[in-house]
Amino acid sequence: EQKVVLITGCSSGIGLSLAVHLASEPSKAYKVYATMRNLDKKQRLLESMRGLHKETLAILQMDVTDQHSILSARDSISEGSVDILVCNAGVGLMGPLETQSEDTMRGILDVNLLGTIRTIQTFLPDMKRRRTGRILVTGSMGGLQGLPFNEVYCASKFAVEGTCESLAILLQHFNVHVSLIECGPVNTDFLRNLTKTEVGDGSVEVDAHTRSLYETYLHHCQTVFQNAAQDTDDIVKVFLEVIRCPCPGLRYYTSSAMLPLSSLKLTAHDGSQYVRAMGKLVFSAGSTDSQN
Ligand code: NAD
Repeated sequence: EQKVVLITGCSSGIGLSLAVHLASEPSKAYKVYATMRNLDKKQRLLESMRGLHKETLAILQMDVTDQHSILSARDSISEGSVDILVCNAGVGLMGPLETQSEDTMRGILDVNLLGTIRTIQTFLPDMKRRRTGRILVTGSMGGLQGLPFNEVYCASKFAVEGTCESLAILLQHFNVHVSLIECGPVNTDFLRNLTKTEVGDGSVEVDAHTRSLYETYLHHCQTVFQNAAQDTDDIVKVFLEVIRCPCPGLRYYTSSAMLPLSSLKLTAHDGSQYVRAMGKLVFSAGSTDSQN
């Protein structure tokens, strides 16, 4: 029987790829509700579909910061229920913490954290009632370990981890499985879409030392994305594995490359090893006085 899947943030990146993959399955095993904040951006998804798939794809407007739009998306699902909910919409934010405005910080938390929670809240009662369901969440390395100049982004993604881990404990009683698909760098519009402080534009006062470390960080980030970013197809493979797994776990890593650093947090409980190792990794190529 066809499974109903609803995915948030499908105008680009991971959400788009996952929607295309599931909706193109030759067996028509999935009916995909690909949702996006702005329907003007649906062209890219439609072009990736190559041909019409009326039975397997529907595109709906849904802004995860707007409860009404989430509810109206839910009410547009002709099957009445969602079997697999994919919370994927998210935005990045980079820059020295002291440059982040209240509005920008609220905006990130609204999309990444509250957006994920609102979406889950909306579909959870039905899953609980039916005693079946899957909730898949696009997680991030930034939700597992701190990254310099990403404090608020990491705060939002750490919080998503806490939300999912907490829910997973309860939902064992309802046969509903929560899984985080933890991604390192992925080739998407993410870097282009994120809000980034431009250093030296004079709008906010940042000391020279921080500015130079930030430049080193941005360079590091660029190198990491160039050398190690995964393609969305690799990420989709992990999503498919989780969807097909009869009893999926809470966390899946899309690449083993991020495990050593993550595990440092556990080996040294005071966190010092992780803080030093990450600092070295990010800043060693740049200024010599970064350990001050
Ligand atoms: P992306 O920018 O291509 O996709 C993010 C999508 O979320 C976009 O389609 C965007 O329109 C949508 N979105 C933003 N605000 C929204 C809102 N209010 N309502 C609905 N949709 C909204 O980037 P991506 O890499 O595909 O990002 C998908 C997820 O993956 C995000 O949660 C991101 O944090 C996570 N992630 C990405 C990377 C990476 O390196 N690309 C790494 C780790 C985690």
